[in-house]
Amino acid sequence: MATNRTFTMIKPDAVANGHIGAILNDIIAGGFKIVAMKYIQLTEESAGNFYAVHKERPFYGELVSFMTSGPIVAAILEKENAVEDFRTLIGATNPAEAAEGTIRNKYAKSIDANAVHGSDSDENAQIEGNFFFSQFERF
Ligand code: ADP
Ligand code: MG
Repeated sequence: MATNRTFTMIKPDAVANGHIGAILNDIIAGGFKIVAMKYIQLTEESAGNFYAVHKERPFYGELVSFMTSGPIVAAILEKENAVEDFRTLIGATNPAEAAEGTIRNKYAKSIDANAVHGSDSDENAQIEGNFFFSQFERF
């Protein structure tokens, strides 16, 4: 059964390009409520652990170094059918294939620097939210 929460990051490219405000606006306009949020810079260790599922993929090293290259915004979002609806709002992994009007279509430049993360399942949404936020920071 679908839960009502997902986890997102505004990635270093979108932060560096000044898109935090616009992306948060799109998220809120899309019907999501911000449950928890923080502005941080990942270490190699934390980014490596977060993306451990991609360890065997050829772009893993590149991904970890990109995700540690500058600050990010991490947030837990709430909405009915949150995981699926948020993946629709952000668009395809490759911004060249992301539908018109999606966050990646508007703010991402490449398949690696693609502006935002969105959890791919309810189970991962919970794991990822717990990775970044203690129980006292999630309400
Ligand atoms: P998504 O973020 O859409 O769930 P994946 O889980 O497949 O996509 O990949 C995780 C992240 O790894 C992507 O968001 C992107 O930043 C990066 N990535 C994915 N595929 C590639 C690739 N072919 N080359 C470089 N980086 C990639
Ligand atoms: Mg993914």
